[in-house]
Amino acid sequence: MDFKSYIRDIQDFPKEGVVFKDITPLLKNGEALNQTVKALLELLDDKNVDKVVGMESRGFFFAPLLASKLGAGFVPVRKPGKLPAKTLQQSYDLEYGKDMLEVHQDSIKKGDKILVHDDVLATGGTALATCELIKRLGGEIVQCNFLIELTFLNGAEKLKEYPIKSLIKY
Ligand code: IMP
Repeated sequence: MDFKSYIRDIQDFPKEGVVFKDITPLLKNGEALNQTVKALLELLDDKNVDKVVGMESRGFFFAPLLASKLGAGFVPVRKPGKLPAKTLQQSYDLEYGKDMLEVHQDSIKKGDKILVHDDVLATGGTALATCELIKRLGGEIVQCNFLIELTFLNGAEKLKEYPIKSLIKY
């Protein structure tokens, strides 16, 4: 399937100068959605996964679908203040300033095999902070898996410690 034909560029979103990859045309098409889930699963060499971790908010589209197909659980990594129970926090650098991600402390056990999924790998800051959280809880990352990789932003370099795969590259 030509996945790129279901992704559109939105100019100047969320701010001027940014070209945003919008995946909603892919999400609203049943066949494209189904084929995307299949293709993301085919990226996995080892399907022995205990939990799929998805990042707020667009990582939540596919991570639970992948978890369901793998017979694994889904764990949300969220922006600060959204998760109700005890959390572990990780701050990370943005282009201007800092941000933070959180995960529930009881969401991952030592030795859990973890698939990390997000829609887009850009600079890699979000994925790296997520991997740090998982490592701090004792999880073993089997793969970081992305629908889209913006290769010109070199996120893969930041994540070189981890096995990463992306379905679509720009
Ligand atoms: P990074 O931390 O710079 O790698 O940015 C990745 C995060 O920003 C992911 O959680 C994405 O959902 C989001 N993101 C960055 N660029 C885009 C885009 O063009 N389309 C959709 N999401 C994006």
